[in-house]
Amino acid sequence: MSEQKLIVGNIKMNMETLAMREDYLAQAEDAFANLPSNATLVVCPPTVYMERFAQAFATSSVALGAQDCFWEFHGAFTGETSPKTLDDIGVEYVIIGHSERRALGESDHAVVRKCQTALRAQLTPIICVGYTQHGEEEIAGVRRSVEALTNALSKEQLQQIIFAYEPVWAIGSGKVPTTDDIQTMILFIRQIVGKHDATIGAQIPVLYGGSVSPENVVDVGVRSGAQGVLVGGASLQPETFARIAHNICQ
Ligand code: PEP
Repeated sequence: MSEQKLIVGNIKMNMETLAMREDYLAQAEDAFANLPSNATLVVCPPTVYMERFAQAFATSSVALGAQDCFWEFHGAFTGETSPKTLDDIGVEYVIIGHSERRALGESDHAVVRKCQTALRAQLTPIICVGYTQHGEEEIAGVRRSVEALTNALSKEQLQQIIFAYEPVWAIGSGKVPTTDDIQTMILFIRQIVGKHDATIGAQIPVLYGGSVSPENVVDVGVRSGAQGVLVGGASLQPETFARIAHNICQ
């Protein structure tokens, strides 16, 4: 059996009625029943559904993730979600710095602060890095985002985070980079971390995200050298999401 794989489903602001949520959970019960033992499946629902999902997955191996969190534990921050609350509900992972949030103004500095606070709440941050186009600008953009973290985090903190390489042009487009291009970017991310600490650089998990499907997951999530995948659209149907997990774990 191959190495442990992380398969993260980002529901985003979908599943917008209670009826849709319950339909998803009913389908998930069957679809997620016999996952491979080397699959860690993480579902990131809308925050307002978190307790319901925690209850639904309480006796299953499926882990819960949040789509974002704030950089403080409590206080006068209208509309924000405390990492402490997420931890208290049973959430284990949190996506930070998704390109859809960066497009709304989230900076590398904000990503670093959120990451540090998430770690204090025992959450595992999944830090998204990527750029709108392939090429020199992408290299510079990814370097900037990764270095913002390596410069700010201690080695102990760095050991606890996961990166997700997500080229923005691949998100929701049905297009994916070549396996070689993904591999190059994963090695590039590891190399930047490696300058900080060689052992952590060699081991830090890097996921791939952007138009992952059951058909392309072996290329983008196995042959590329990724430790798993971050899935948007294809995670909305539990059966399709489970097929991604089965295919990446063979
Ligand atoms: C994402 O938004 O992180 C993502 C990977 O989306 P999709 O799978 O729909 O491209």
